[in-house]
Amino acid sequence: MRQMPHARPPSAARGPMFPSEYVDTLHADKLHEECGVIAVYRASGNAAALAHRGLFALQHRGQEAAGLASIDDQGELHSLRSPGLVAALPLDAVSALPGCMAIGHVRYSTVTVDHAENIQPFLATTPLGRLAIAHNGNFKNADSLSADLRQDGALLSTTMDTELFVHLLTRSRKTDLHAALRIACDGVIGAYSLTLLCGQRLLALRDAHGIRPLVIGRLPEPESGWVVASETCALRAIGASLVREVAPGELVELGPTGLSSTQLLPASVQPAPCVFELIYFARPDSEIFGQSPHEARVRMGMELAEQDRDLPRPDVVVPVPDSGVSAAVGYARGSGVPFEMAILRSHYVGRTFILPSQDARTQMLRMKLSVIAAAVAGKRVLLVDDSLVRGNTARQIVAMVREAGAKEIWLRLASPPIVMPCFLGIDTPTQSELLLNRAFAGERLAKTLPAERASSAEAIEWVRRFVGADHLRYLSQDGLRRATFDRPFCMGCMDGRYPV
Ligand code: SF4
Repeated sequence: MRQMPHARPPSAARGPMFPSEYVDTLHADKLHEECGVIAVYRASGNAAALAHRGLFALQHRGQEAAGLASIDDQGELHSLRSPGLVAALPLDAVSALPGCMAIGHVRYSTVTVDHAENIQPFLATTPLGRLAIAHNGNFKNADSLSADLRQDGALLSTTMDTELFVHLLTRSRKTDLHAALRIACDGVIGAYSLTLLCGQRLLALRDAHGIRPLVIGRLPEPESGWVVASETCALRAIGASLVREVAPGELVELGPTGLSSTQLLPASVQPAPCVFELIYFARPDSEIFGQSPHEARVRMGMELAEQDRDLPRPDVVVPVPDSGVSAAVGYARGSGVPFEMAILRSHYVGRTFILPSQDARTQMLRMKLSVIAAAVAGKRVLLVDDSLVRGNTARQIVAMVREAGAKEIWLRLASPPIVMPCFLGIDTPTQSELLLNRAFAGERLAKTLPAERASSAEAIEWVRRFVGADHLRYLSQDGLRRATFDRPFCMGCMDGRYPV
């Protein structure tokens, strides 16, 4: 779900503003997932209560806002939406949401001020019936679509690209929901995993490349019900068992007669799920694209250890918590070097107001992380993290490990260099803000720096000096492919080749 900066409605038309200028100091320097979705059918009613529990498990996919919508027996929609974490949705109000069908959404925490009307699910009255929709992904053609729709007289009430999809649905002039969805999908380019309620029907849909994840689960007997969610961790949280993934381009409908499936979009398209789900976004205890993210990350760490066969052994492997833990386990397993949880993360320092100065941000990071000096002093420390985006946090962590007495610090990244932005549902800095591109900041460059140059030895040496490490290596693209079983994945932010 993408926000369109140029399509903001006039302030008078907007709902109340709320500050979302809160960040997790560790999370701020990562690529960010842009939402999680869930849909629940429960025959005994109050499906929203289950969807709410599932949203807690999807909280890592978005912390800016959360919302639920349900539909009652008369076809009336009910909704509850709030800025902040899922816990901000009042329990008594969740319990009061009626009906056997519900959808839910968590939204990624941007660092800009946002507006209440941009909280999903998005609700609308359409010729197809009352409709609620929740979206994980991004429409690459949102700006031109929005311009065309406004030119054509459409009134947009939010700045979300999700609303554009609803306009395409209604403008299809189809009374058959499947036909309308097919036309709306033809009008958008990008990544989408959607859940929607429409006229007492509950549906879920995944784009033709299957870029963002979406899985189907079943509630245990005697409960009669079905669930669709971004990740399997949400199924487990509500006691559902995994049935299978929603296939790329598949539309599923959940209801009293069970689960029905339609291949809405061409099945002949090459699948291209986002490999970053396996590197970082998905919870390690989920199952994504048929793989365990934890095990995939362990294999990435083992590949890193293999790449280091030409070097002397470090004394200790230390993960950056929590994102580097699984890959560090893999490095230790592959190299035989002892593993130490030498960096502690405080779970009591929550999200913090965006701090204006680098000094203040450094202090906040020091409140969040501390290094066990006894575990690193006098040693050659091999520090493992999943990726480097802007590099500011890595730079501070390297400094802290050095202050704790490490003799040398070798930094390993369990992903290939990120050199391009993502247009498919992940919030990335612009290309010029990405760390490797800054290596050439002094040069007059063409608008787009080729991926090969951005990940050249020259750029990587610049990054090593920037973060202050004694040695730096990234996982190779081939290593990543082996670690993910050579399946077809989108690696656009690493090689510039996007599936759409
Ligand atoms: S460009 Fe990168 S982050 Fe975006 S979908 Fe592809 S692999 Fe994922």
